[in-house]
Amino acid sequence: MTISLHGIGIGGGIAIGRAHLVSHTDLEVAHYEITDAEVAGEIARFDAAVRVTRKELELLWGSIPENAPTELGAFLSLHVMLLNDHTIAREPRDIITEQHCNAEWALKLQQDRLLEQFDVIEEEYLRERRTDVIQVVERVFKALAGQGGGQYVPPEDSRERILVANDLSPADMVLFKEAQFAAFLTDVGGPTSHTAILARSLNIPSVLALHNARQLIREGERLIVDGTAGVAIIDPSEAIVAEYRKRQASHAAERKRLQRLKSTAATTKDGVSIELLANIETPGDLEPVKANGAAGIGLYRSEFIFLGRDDLPDEEEQYEAYKQVVEGMKGQPVTIRTVDLGRDKMPKWADEEAQSAPNPALGLTGVRLCLAEPILFRTQLRALLRAGVHGKLKLLFPMLASLSEVSQVLFHIDQVKDSLREEGIPFSDEVQVGGMIEVPGAALTVNHLLERLDFISIGTNDLIQYTLAVDRGDDAVSHLYDPFHPAVLHLIAHVIRCADRKGVPVSVCGEMAGDARMTRLLLALGLRSFSMHPAQLLSVKQVILKSDLTCLSPLANEIERAPDADRVRELLLGVT
Ligand code: PEP
Ligand code: MG
Repeated sequence: MTISLHGIGIGGGIAIGRAHLVSHTDLEVAHYEITDAEVAGEIARFDAAVRVTRKELELLWGSIPENAPTELGAFLSLHVMLLNDHTIAREPRDIITEQHCNAEWALKLQQDRLLEQFDVIEEEYLRERRTDVIQVVERVFKALAGQGGGQYVPPEDSRERILVANDLSPADMVLFKEAQFAAFLTDVGGPTSHTAILARSLNIPSVLALHNARQLIREGERLIVDGTAGVAIIDPSEAIVAEYRKRQASHAAERKRLQRLKSTAATTKDGVSIELLANIETPGDLEPVKANGAAGIGLYRSEFIFLGRDDLPDEEEQYEAYKQVVEGMKGQPVTIRTVDLGRDKMPKWADEEAQSAPNPALGLTGVRLCLAEPILFRTQLRALLRAGVHGKLKLLFPMLASLSEVSQVLFHIDQVKDSLREEGIPFSDEVQVGGMIEVPGAALTVNHLLERLDFISIGTNDLIQYTLAVDRGDDAVSHLYDPFHPAVLHLIAHVIRCADRKGVPVSVCGEMAGDARMTRLLLALGLRSFSMHPAQLLSVKQVILKSDLTCLSPLANEIERAPDADRVRELLLGVT
C-alpha cells in the first residue's frame, strides 16, 4: 500500500530507490553473518570482551579515592553486577549460536531487548537504571572493538539505497559522506540541525522530521524521496514512479542550466558585485566548491576532524588537513573556523560530565570550550598558523559572546606565534582574525568586537536559535524557527550596519545565506558577502543576477519596522 509521509525537506531534488534501515548504534556496531565454524571463535571473542570490561571496572573500583562520594562506589558495583548478570554475560552467546551473527550484533540485539523491558517499568528508580545498562554494554562494545570488531559497513549498492534512520548524529553523517547513499530520511531533526546541514552539503535528497518513518518502512522497500517538497512515498505505484521520474529529469535539467552560470560574475542588475563563498566540512569537499565557481571558502567547520573518533587529532594531522584546503584553493581566501564542539557535536572522547551537561546549547561550547581547554586550542592554532603559509588563510572563532573572549583569543594567538617563532617553525603572520556573530549578546555589542576583529561572519543558524529560544535541532518547535522573525532581522541589519560603518567585512555563513528565497532579503539588509554549501551557489547567484539594489535597499527600513514575519514576507513579494 502506498503511504506518503511529510517532513522537513532539506533539498537535493528527487531520489527513487530501496530502503536501507539503520539505527544510531548500527553505525558503530558491525552486523554480519558468521558460519557454523566461526561460532565458537565469536563466542570466545565475546567472552574475552566481557573479561576485559570486568577487569576495567575492577581497576576503576580499586582506584576510587578515599574521599570520593559513596555514590561512586555504589555506581561501579551496580555496573559490575549488571555485567555479571546472565542477561549481559551469557545471553548474547546464545544469540550468536542461534542466529549466526557476530558478537557485536548479538550484544546489540540483547541490549534492545533489555531496554524494551526497562521502558515499561513504572518505578522511576528502576526505569532510570536503563542508562546503566547502556553504559555497561557500551564498555563491552569498546572492548569488542579492540578485538577485531568492525565499524559500520555500508551495503555495496549504497548509491541506490535510501538511508532511513530514527536520528543521525553529525558524526554519523560524516561516515555517510564516504558511503554515498541516494537519499536520507530521518524521524527527527530541525532544518538547521548539523545533521540537516551535512545532508545539504551532500546535495542528495533528504527529508527530516518524518516522525515514524523508521517504523513504517521495511528494509528493501521501494521509496521516493522528494527533498524539495519534504515528502517520502513508501511503496509507490508505477504511475507515481513515472511521474517522479519526469520531475527528476526536470530537476536535473534545471541543475544543468544553472551550471552555465558557473563563471558568470555575481553582479546585481545595477552593477553591484556580490561575494559568493562556500561552506565545507572536510578537506574532501573541495571538488564541488570549484565545480560551482565559489570565490573562496567562507566557512570550514574544522570540528568534523574531531568527531567520530576516540582520540584527538594531533598538530601534524590537523596541519595536513588545513594545508590541503588552503593549498587546494590556490590563493583564494580560506576561512577556517576553530573547533565548535559541544551541543550536538559532542566528540566521543568528551568526559561524562560534558556528555551529560544539563543544557549543552548554553554550556561549554564553541570558543568557550577552546578557552577552557588551552592545550586543545593552542594545538589547533599552531596547526592553523603553520597552514597559513600555503595560501590566504583567515581564522574564525565560533560562539563569541563578549569582548573579553575576543581578547583571550588574541592573547592565545600571540602566544602561539611567539612559541612558533622561538622554535623556528614557519607560520603566517598575515592571518586575519574574525568572529562569528551568532549569540544575540555579541550582535548587540558588535561595535566593540569590531574594534578588535578583521572581519565578522553572521551565524544565522545559532543566532535564530538563541534569539527566539527555539532549539534548531528539535522538529517539535521547527515551525517557530523563523528566519523572517523581525527580531532576527533587526540583529542582522544592526550587525551589517555597524560593520559597514567601521569598514569591517561582514558575511553570513548560516543556512540563510544559501536559501535563494532569502537572498533578496539579505541584499535589502545590506549584505554583500554570502557563504553557503557549494550546491546552493548557483541558485543564489541566479537570484542576484536578477536583483536590483535600487529597488531592494529602500525596503530595509520597512523590514525592520515590520511587526511580524508575515509582514516581512509580504514586503518581499514581487520585488526584484
Ligand atoms: C551558524 O550558527 O549559523 C553557523 C554557521 O554555525 P553552525 O551551523 O556550525 O553552528
Ligand atoms: Mg553556529
